[in-house]
Amino acid sequence: MAILPIYLFGSSVLRKKAKPVDQLDNALIKLVYDMTETMHKAHGIGLAANQVGELRQVIVVDMTAVEESEREEGNDHEESSVKVKERKTLVLINPEILSKGGTFTMEEGCLSIPEVRADVTRPESIRLKFKDVNFNEVELETGGLLARVLQHEVDHLKGILFIDYLSKLKRASLKSTLRAIEKGEVDASYPIVVGAEA
Ligand SMILES: [Zn+2]
Repeated sequence: MAILPIYLFGSSVLRKKAKPVDQLDNALIKLVYDMTETMHKAHGIGLAANQVGELRQVIVVDMTAVEESEREEGNDHEESSVKVKERKTLVLINPEILSKGGTFTMEEGCLSIPEVRADVTRPESIRLKFKDVNFNEVELETGGLLARVLQHEVDHLKGILFIDYLSKLKRASLKSTLRAIEKGEVDASYPIVVGAEA
């Protein structure tokens, strides 16, 4: 497994649409494991392939982190997860959100936009389908933090970032911070790629 550098805001790959995966091959398995390792290294709760410069519809979510945050809700996501270094990872290939319900505001951040956090309002619960790491079709209905993370990551595959949802005023207040990130003037604890034209 390898730690992959994470593409920062300003890199064009973050604004492109990822393509569906049509088959499970060794390159894809390697990507899943590398993304998982990279997510752990960066202490992220989720990571989309665009963020490591790959335009393939692949997402990994650190279910150990999700479950630690929502343990009291008694959610269980045992199936379709793999364990890497004793942390459970949910792998989603070709995810598609089928329906959404409610609204909920929660603070979000993004490994591609270090040091920026902001409240984002999204649907509270979602139903989605995807292929798991064995390329089996899975349908999942979820709410709370997992629904939040999944919507953020599915957006990445469409070239959408959480800051796109912020008010003009809030965006304006982040302008200099975002410009600094585009120039790579940030302290990240993980390897990064700055302003790459893919
Ligand atoms: Zn993100």
